[in-house]
Amino acid sequence: MRKPILAGNWKMNRAPAEAVEFVRALQPKLAPYLAQVETVVCPPFVCLPAVADALAGEKIGVGARIGVGAQNMHWAENGAYTGEVSAAMLKGLAGYVIIGHSERRQYFGETDEGVNKKIVAALAHGLIPIVCVGEDLAQNEAGVTEMFVSGQVRAAFAGISADQARAVVVAYEPIWAIGTGRTATKEVANHVCGAVVRATLAELYGEAVAQAIRIQYGGSANEKNIGELMAMPDIDGALIGGASLKVEAFVEMVRVTAAQL
Ligand code: PEP
Repeated sequence: MRKPILAGNWKMNRAPAEAVEFVRALQPKLAPYLAQVETVVCPPFVCLPAVADALAGEKIGVGARIGVGAQNMHWAENGAYTGEVSAAMLKGLAGYVIIGHSERRQYFGETDEGVNKKIVAALAHGLIPIVCVGEDLAQNEAGVTEMFVSGQVRAAFAGISADQARAVVVAYEPIWAIGTGRTATKEVANHVCGAVVRATLAELYGEAVAQAIRIQYGGSANEKNIGELMAMPDIDGALIGGASLKVEAFVEMVRVTAAQL
């Protein structure tokens, strides 16, 4: 019912020329799966024009393209925000935008309130927000994961209508699993995606809307564990860091996801 969505978060890696080379290598290998699996790459801002161009210029077989996403954006339309990029500026370059990644919350002081404003702005400009939530190790060990993640979801969706909410993708990313090689077990990941994130969305919007919203898992997902994660009923995709930087690993993740449908 929910189309799986795999998104690669390249973080601060690759310059435009390397980015184009990488997506050109991905295209023919991903083509057989794109109709079934929504597949997105999220390069650094400076790569977006080149990547969007490279993907727009190619025929990739099945009528579906690799999607392009930004890794962040500002909520304002324009103005005195040195170093920032607005949703309006992403038009034509990206269809998706990662919002509230834990690295942005941790290193750049992003707050729940800012995350909410960004989601509102992204939706107003027709971008699909990929909204990251997730607890850190101390919260996990203190047993407050459910309360904390549910609170992040409520804050993120404040003031967003049910119709708009359907378009949003939520990525549950336990911070202790990001880039550590320590993946949440499939049971734990599914529990938080379903009994916490989806349940919170059901409280906010009702069961039908909650069932329509896609929820990804993120945190050391790779070509070896993606099969078992995607087999879980409440996991609809993955936000992938390290493994998305390798053509073979990323393609294999998409292939395995398609094969399970
Ligand atoms: C991420 O940065 O969103 C992420 C999940 O990274 P990794 O897959 O490397 O853990």
